[in-house]
Amino acid sequence: MHELSMAQGIINAVIETAENNNATEVNEVTVEVGRLAMVNPEQLNFILGVLVENTIVEDADIKMEEIPVEIECFDCGFNGNAVVDDKDHYAPLVKCPKCDSLKIDILNGKDIVVKNIVIEKPDDD
Ligand SMILES: [Zn+2]
Repeated sequence: MHELSMAQGIINAVIETAENNNATEVNEVTVEVGRLAMVNPEQLNFILGVLVENTIVEDADIKMEEIPVEIECFDCGFNGNAVVDDKDHYAPLVKCPKCDSLKIDILNGKDIVVKNIVIEKPDDD
């Protein structure tokens, strides 16, 4: 399952960062999910909840932020958020909102990124 390997990667990154910072606990994790990352955020969130069990991330508040798809249009030069037709979840159609062209360059919205983590350190109150 795609979401499972994604979730595992996120948790590994969070735990590594937390350990490098001598964290005793992770309080909050913010994950950016691109609209073209081909994952179901709810499903991802569910799997994350299972994977964090018995880790220092166990009690963290995991937040998902959906990132819009940013494009540059080769036809009219438009630069900004695209129109995404994702009725077919696994092959969404990305179009220029200005001229409807499909000849576009996708600049952002394909990745899953751990944006922020809030940790607790031993010397914290
Ligand atoms: Zn265009």
